[in-house]
Amino acid sequence: MHKITSHFMSIVRPALTVENASPTRKPTLTALVTSAQVMETASKKYAVYHVEMKDGSRSWDVYRRYTEFCRLHAALKKQIAGLNLKLPGKRLFGSNFDPAFLKSRCDGLTEYIRLIINDGRLLPIREVREFLSLDERTNAKKSANSDDSGVETSSGNESGADGRQAARSSEDDESDESRPGSAMMNIHLSQRSMPIAKGNINLGPSERPLKPDDFEFLRVLGRGSFGKVLLARRYADQHLYAVKVLEKRAVVRRNETQHIMAERNVLRNNQLHPFLVSLHASFQTREKLYFVLDFVNGGELFFHLQRERHFSEARARFYSAEMASALGYLHSAGVVYRDLKPENILLDSEGHLVLTDFGLCKEGLVDSDQTTATFCGTPEYLAPEVIRKEAYGRSVDWWCLGAVLYEMLYGLPPFYSRDTAVMYDAILNKPLHFRDHIPVSQAGKDLLSALLQKDGRTRLGSGPADFEDVRNHDFFSCLNWDDLMQRKMTPPFRPELNDAYDLRNIDPEFTREPVPASLLQARSVRAASSLGCRDGDNVFAGFSYVPTTLS
Ligand code: ATP
Ligand code: MG
Repeated sequence: MHKITSHFMSIVRPALTVENASPTRKPTLTALVTSAQVMETASKKYAVYHVEMKDGSRSWDVYRRYTEFCRLHAALKKQIAGLNLKLPGKRLFGSNFDPAFLKSRCDGLTEYIRLIINDGRLLPIREVREFLSLDERTNAKKSANSDDSGVETSSGNESGADGRQAARSSEDDESDESRPGSAMMNIHLSQRSMPIAKGNINLGPSERPLKPDDFEFLRVLGRGSFGKVLLARRYADQHLYAVKVLEKRAVVRRNETQHIMAERNVLRNNQLHPFLVSLHASFQTREKLYFVLDFVNGGELFFHLQRERHFSEARARFYSAEMASALGYLHSAGVVYRDLKPENILLDSEGHLVLTDFGLCKEGLVDSDQTTATFCGTPEYLAPEVIRKEAYGRSVDWWCLGAVLYEMLYGLPPFYSRDTAVMYDAILNKPLHFRDHIPVSQAGKDLLSALLQKDGRTRLGSGPADFEDVRNHDFFSCLNWDDLMQRKMTPPFRPELNDAYDLRNIDPEFTREPVPASLLQARSVRAASSLGCRDGDNVFAGFSYVPTTLS
């Protein structure tokens, strides 16, 4: 379904344990480089080293490429004159990926970290603390979904895709070995639970805009009109995020700048609603726009509907109630959503709904009689007044709710035809037809008829009470709305998930796709364009946002 708008690795086993001999640091800080995982992308091959950190009873994992060790080493040499510390070197002959070499390098790197930890001059240095994630553990713990051992895991060093190809530094041994024939990244996803960012995460002080280098881009989660949505792990807190990346050129070419800025504004104000995706930050480079969102890992409603064909009435009621509450909230903020459809509705790990994709939102429609006229939406879900290119108001969202409810109950959108012209004609002129082979209660049919009322002015929800009128419908009479809005109702279906990296509910069509090279190679030849840029004098001025108050 298309959206339209009018303008339109070999594991190497353990080595030494490093103990911190400093008498002042208790409990003891230790680090052990336990393995190296070789990663392949379409264009390069490199190793990611797993560093197991321990401080008394607390432990956490850090994953670093050799190039990152090199950068750390360079920073230390710069700050400490005459520093007598040697980084294990690279191989002059032979493969950098043979297991014996990797094992000896793990041992060498363990020794290297041991010397840093034991050196009272080095441990306080910012680069060391960031490299070993020494200070992020408290933050990560707060929102962590960690396992019972209290281990704050950060496994699954997928792409090593810090995009840090270190501008082809002479120390970057691995990435020189290109493998053009390899189509896919060889990713090992950990079975251990991982923190997914939720709620208040400190993304850093506002004066430091984020940049692509702050993230490891792991997988493709979805495709949008102007780019992709990727699973990404932020180095600083090791949390998972969904990062929506848009190509500026495509946005400008299609005259969609205003929609994107509206998307940013609406996302920014979503924080408090339980069924709207939260924006953690937004930033831009010269070529791209980035939204850092909650990673919602239960899959699209569309994915589940495709598998199950249709839902029970009780399940459809639960979902439509959560959708209605989200739409009501947006309307109360003067926002019309305009693109409600199963692809934009995600399930979280518990089975609650989360609305994503605010790219077609219209802001500033505060009253029930305020209208707009842009022809936009997705054909299957367009309200008649939009097809007729008339002025329309927020009640178009109630039409879409009716269309999605119908699809949940009957398996297809109302008025559906493969032929868009035929479908438009049916939306405009044909009466609503209930498919008899699927039993739906009278209250359910009544609600569908009231929402799919062709005249927008008499549609349920079109009055000043808006959402209140929808929620008072008989179909929802068995619901406790207070419980629903506080997420106290047990969802009728809980997505199967082993851990936060479990992508089984996301269409393999996306997850099998390689992560775009432009993101993996953020620091390579085109370094300048891929570094975060401040909102400057460009059409996307004001786009970037990093919350200061979050902690
Ligand atoms: P736009 O209108 O901005 O072009 P789009 O349809 O192109 O929107 P989105 O709908 O925002 O892009 O994202 C595309 C797909 O990516 C979604 O359908 C969904 O499968 C996936 N996705 C989006 N946001 C998230 C998220 N926060 N967590 C997990 N998956 C997501
Ligand atoms: Mg979408």
